[in-house]
Amino acid sequence: MSDAAASFHDLTREALRLRVVRWGFSPVHAARLWAYVYLERAETWAAMPELPARFRARAEKELTFTRLPVAAETRSRDGFTRKYLLSLDDDRRIETVLMRFTGRVTACISSQAGCAMGCVFCATGQMGFARHLTAGEIVAQALHVDRELRPATCNLIGYKGAGERLRNIVLMGMGEPLHNYDAVMTATDILCDTAGLSLGTKQITLSTVGVVPGIIRLADEARPIHLAVSLHGATQEERAALVPVAKKWPLDELMAACRYYSDKLQRRIFYEWTLIAGKNDLPESAHAVGRLLKGQAAQVNLIPLNPTTGYGGTPTGQEAARRFQQILAEYGLPSTVRQRRGIDIAAGCGQLATTR
Ligand code: SF4
Repeated sequence: MSDAAASFHDLTREALRLRVVRWGFSPVHAARLWAYVYLERAETWAAMPELPARFRARAEKELTFTRLPVAAETRSRDGFTRKYLLSLDDDRRIETVLMRFTGRVTACISSQAGCAMGCVFCATGQMGFARHLTAGEIVAQALHVDRELRPATCNLIGYKGAGERLRNIVLMGMGEPLHNYDAVMTATDILCDTAGLSLGTKQITLSTVGVVPGIIRLADEARPIHLAVSLHGATQEERAALVPVAKKWPLDELMAACRYYSDKLQRRIFYEWTLIAGKNDLPESAHAVGRLLKGQAAQVNLIPLNPTTGYGGTPTGQEAARRFQQILAEYGLPSTVRQRRGIDIAAGCGQLATTR
C-alpha cells in the first residue's frame, strides 16, 4: 500500500514508524532516519549513509524535506536579535526571529502565513490571512534557528559557543496558533520528542489572541505548554476596538475559558498587554486589569507597542509603564515590561514581510 507523498517534517515519530512499516520495512529504519534528521541534523539523503539502499530509495520516493530558504535577513544593531524572512514552497513568506535575552536563546516562530484576526496595531493583521502553515513548516523554522546557533554561524553577543542550543520557543510570530490547532500541536509533539530535538514542553509558549474553543481544547487535552493570552483591553469595549476577534469571543467568555484552563491544569497564564501611549496605558486601564485578573494565577507581560505604518499609535514610555506595573502590584499581580528587541530591524510580527 502506498501513502500520498508527505514531508518528513510533517510526521511525528510514531506516524513515521507506521508509514515505514506499511511500506514493508523494519521500524528500525524509521528510527534511524528520525535520528539522522533530529539528532544528527542531517539535511540530505546523501548525509544518511547507513540507511539500506532499498529503504532509502523508497523513502526518497515517498518523503520530501520541508525547506525554508532565507529570502531576507536582518540583524539588530545591538546584536541580540536576528529576523529571517523565510520562503514557503508556494512563494509566500513568513517570519522567524532569533532573540537573545539574558542567558537564553528564544525562537519566535510563525503558525500561519498572514493572520485572520486583524488586530489593529499588528502588521500581520493588517496583511490579512493567506494560509495555515503545515506542521513541517513550523518544525522547519525551529530547525532553521537551531542551525543558526551552531558555532560556525553564530556571532550573537553573549553566545557561549559549543553546548548552547535552542531551548525556548514562543509561538508568537505571524498567525494565531489556535486557529491552526492540529498542525501546531503536531509540530510541538515533534519538537518535544525526547528521541529528537527534545525541547522541554515547558519551554514552549503559545500565544493566543483569545480563541476560546482552542483554550478549552488545550485544557481538555492537558497540553503541557505555557499559555499566553493577548488581552490589550480590560473591558469588552476597549478590547474589541483593538482586537476584533473579541466580538466573536467576548471578554467574559474569554475569562471563563482562562479560569477553566487554570483550574483544570493548575497552571498560571501569561497575559500580554501591548502598551499604547494614551490609549491603554492610563491608570484606569491598569486598575481595570487589576480588577479583571485579581485572584487568578496570572502574570502580566507589558509590551510597549512596536510601531507599524498601518497604525497611528505610539509606544508607552518607561515612566508610564512603571506606573502601570505599580498599580498591577497593588492587586497582587506580578508583571514584567518586555525588553524591546530589534526595533531597528522591524522585529514586531509581520513587519519585515510587509516591508519586503
Ligand atoms: S497580533 Fe497575533 S493574532 Fe493579532 S493579527 Fe497579529 S498575528 Fe494575528
